[in-house]
Amino acid sequence: MQQNRSRHLRYTLAGLAGTTLAGWYLGYPVYGLTIGLGIYLLWTYTQIRRLSQWLADPSATDEAPQSIGIWGDLFEKLNKLNQNYLHTRDRLRARIDRIQESTNAMHDGVIMTDARGAMEWWNGSAEHLLGFRRSTDQGQYIYNLIRTPAFKSYFDAKNYREPLELISPAKPQISLQIQISLFGENDRLIVAKDVTRLHQLEQMRRDFVSNVSHEMRTPLTVISGYLETLMDNADDLPAKWQRAINTMATQSFRMETLITDLILLSRIETDEQSATEATTDVGKLVGQICQDARTLSGENQHEIVFQTPDPHRLKGDENQLRSAFSNLIFNAVKYTPARGRITVCWFANAEGGHLSVKDTGAGIDQVHIPRLTERFYRADPSRHKDTGGTGLGLAIVKHVLLNHDGTLDIHSRLCEGSEFICHFPPERLI
Ligand code: ADP
Repeated sequence: MQQNRSRHLRYTLAGLAGTTLAGWYLGYPVYGLTIGLGIYLLWTYTQIRRLSQWLADPSATDEAPQSIGIWGDLFEKLNKLNQNYLHTRDRLRARIDRIQESTNAMHDGVIMTDARGAMEWWNGSAEHLLGFRRSTDQGQYIYNLIRTPAFKSYFDAKNYREPLELISPAKPQISLQIQISLFGENDRLIVAKDVTRLHQLEQMRRDFVSNVSHEMRTPLTVISGYLETLMDNADDLPAKWQRAINTMATQSFRMETLITDLILLSRIETDEQSATEATTDVGKLVGQICQDARTLSGENQHEIVFQTPDPHRLKGDENQLRSAFSNLIFNAVKYTPARGRITVCWFANAEGGHLSVKDTGAGIDQVHIPRLTERFYRADPSRHKDTGGTGLGLAIVKHVLLNHDGTLDIHSRLCEGSEFICHFPPERLI
């Protein structure tokens, strides 16, 4: 390279010397030098023009123009840079094509938006599931295309720990689960999963449980009726039958309670609507439940205190709320030894309305707390034999709270008592 440059300089100087000598020979050395410089300038200008033409569209010709000396060096270097650039570009393009091909093959819809929600890219499944069109929807705000208010609040809230379920805006028969992830500077990657089949299965399960419970209720009522009659006439029966009939009556009563709870749970699961229409006087309702709890406590003489009721009412279905609150308060009675203290408190603050039920009872080991609201989950299976619970109480509480946009907090330690708190959002308070 260095050699090339010095050769270029030598040739240029030799050329200029040649024209000057020729001019000197003819008696005009200055003209000779001027003509030499002119030729050099013209040649340099030609090289600059070739370079400029090539730079305007380097991919039009494979190779950069050829030249000699410094210009040759320059063209060669630029050509090498251009080749590297073209190579990297082709590699990246191939990689992007592959990523797009693979995301297009996905069954889930994938959408990329900027921080304000303007749609930048989406795959084929997003078109199918959400009805987006490449020709018209590029750059549109996603919440103008998915117009459900729940989606807009979910999108804005930036709390994407739990997915959102909604009906497809394009095909009402499709149920979607939406999960958003943040990347870059608050840009969003949105994944839409088709959960229609799961929903149908869930519906089938609910229908099955509800139908079986209803079907079992009638024969059980007949059995319980006969058992009651037998118990009323127990004196006429031989002594060995009396114990058997008592046990049968206890078990049929347990089954009746279980079926009532199962029916109640499936009704609550399907009856989300009523939770948004009615209003409930929580103070009055909890007052009545505490009264019933005192009756339930009976000889155990629990001290049941309902602390200064807050005047706020709650937007929600009274029957569902009664089931939830009575399950919590009756559990406190069941799992607190005689003469224990149960404190119930309904209060409101900036975060919403809260119902706390605190007892000085047996408490629950930390390992059980995350699973307590599962159906039939029991922290201490041996203990429930005495209490006669169905194992569905906290599952009912969870579903009622879900219907009322609420959450359940459980604080407990073994032998130190428990506190169950239902939280309702401020929008639910009146
Ligand atoms: P159950 O009908 O067995 O009471 P729940 O769903 O109401 O069913 O409660 C689930 C389990 O949670 C209970 O079996 C019990 O082990 C535990 N539990 C609920 N409430 C309390 C409480 N106040 N104190 C101690 N344990 C409780």
